[in-house]
Amino acid sequence: MTTHEPKQRKGIIELICGPMFSGKTTEFLRRLRRKSFANQKVLIFKPSLDTRGEQSKVMSHDGEELPSFVVTESSQILDYVHKEDVEDHCRLVVGIDEVQFFDRNIMQVILEISEQGINLIVDGLDKDFKGDAFQNTDQLLVEADYVTKLQAVCTICGRDASFSQRLINGAPAKKDDPIVLIGAQDSYQPRCRTCWIRPQ
Ligand SMILES: [Zn+2]
Repeated sequence: MTTHEPKQRKGIIELICGPMFSGKTTEFLRRLRRKSFANQKVLIFKPSLDTRGEQSKVMSHDGEELPSFVVTESSQILDYVHKEDVEDHCRLVVGIDEVQFFDRNIMQVILEISEQGINLIVDGLDKDFKGDAFQNTDQLLVEADYVTKLQAVCTICGRDASFSQRLINGAPAKKDDPIVLIGAQDSYQPRCRTCWIRPQ
């Protein structure tokens, strides 16, 4: 008879990705709220450079919110997790918001948390306005056990949109336009593949 060493069960990694305005944060909060209804303890982390809403909460565009910790370095997440009772790890869920804005060490942090038997729910943009893959989300698309790719609604034609068009003073931004343009009206629109104009 083959015997299996009793193994510490690893945490499951879920990724919610998509373009801007696809409801990622709403879905992220919905899943985490369900966990807390199921008496699991939820710890949510977001990067400090995401300044939307209040610093201590994750807030979706439709106004839903849950308390969160703002961290400047991904390794700080481990400090918070290590404060939790190890016996309770199976009752713990870690949520990571806007994963693309964390430093590249976040993948290692996520894997380490999973190793400890803690489930994770992560959300992030999959590509930038140029259509290039975002760091961290690209790796998670491969690593995660479950991936949900959400669609926004195309501003132009109303079909499903998986791209974000960056507009500067109403016109599509160029590839090398600076990220912050002083005095310009900078905005983003969800667009489908047909209506999206690849920045040149
Ligand atoms: Zn369209």
